[in-house]
Amino acid sequence: MLYIGSHISASKGYEAMGKQALKLGANTFAFFTRNPRGGKAKEIDPADVEKFLALKEAHSFGKLVAHAPYTLNACAAKEEIRRFAREVMADDLLRMEATPGNYYNFHPGSHVGQGSETGIDLTAGLLNEVLKPEQTTVVLLETMSGKGSEIGRNFEELRAILDRVKLKEKMGVCLDTCHVWDGGYDIVHELESVLDSFDAVIGLEHLKAIHMNDSMNPFDSHKDRHEKIGEGQIGLPAMERIINHPKLQGLPVILETPNDDAGWAKEIALLKSLHHAQ
Ligand code: FE
Ligand code: FE
Ligand code: ZN
Repeated sequence: MLYIGSHISASKGYEAMGKQALKLGANTFAFFTRNPRGGKAKEIDPADVEKFLALKEAHSFGKLVAHAPYTLNACAAKEEIRRFAREVMADDLLRMEATPGNYYNFHPGSHVGQGSETGIDLTAGLLNEVLKPEQTTVVLLETMSGKGSEIGRNFEELRAILDRVKLKEKMGVCLDTCHVWDGGYDIVHELESVLDSFDAVIGLEHLKAIHMNDSMNPFDSHKDRHEKIGEGQIGLPAMERIINHPKLQGLPVILETPNDDAGWAKEIALLKSLHHAQ
């Protein structure tokens, strides 16, 4: 079973997102929990959520991969920026409980000159403040390309964050194909050894989702510019190997490619047609 979908606009509510996903041929999706730039979140309507959960069940959707606003910086140097990140994440995690048992993905942050050790510490500290034993949502750290002062540029940095989080069972990792490629992991020629290294450093059991993006830039470029599936430097054969890899089955695969709805529908159909693993 391939769980695949794209980002979907949350502006019309949950049921609308579910219907839009179906229209695209998807059986999972990603959405921003609020404006990606971090504004106030829309009120949750319980009747809307109920209709969505019925649709999700009826169509056997995989786990959803919600995305935190990408402007959050959990390890900023300024206390007020970190406080904003903490408040938004705490509120998002409460909201996520309206749709229990899904994923909430976020960028670990940029240390802005404080050094990655301090960044790792601040991000783990923030997680220790917002994670709650009773939550059903699993929070995912996204693998980053290492542009600027991003932390999460390699598996070791993600592992260092996970090591410092107390509620470990509430945490996982989302692998972004464009980011790891740009970050210096050769998933085109060395997929097996990249997965071995993920397993050795983090543990493959902690890999919960995949962001499937091609990259505009060459290997190890630390750039982070997504390209349409098969039209970038990663290419379709490598993506076919990824979606069919026996160790990656059952994970939600989310497209974050530069597309309109027609483009996503096409990419979803394409990847479905290339998926033959059990
Ligand atoms: Fe992301
Ligand atoms: Fe991503
Ligand atoms: Zn990206």
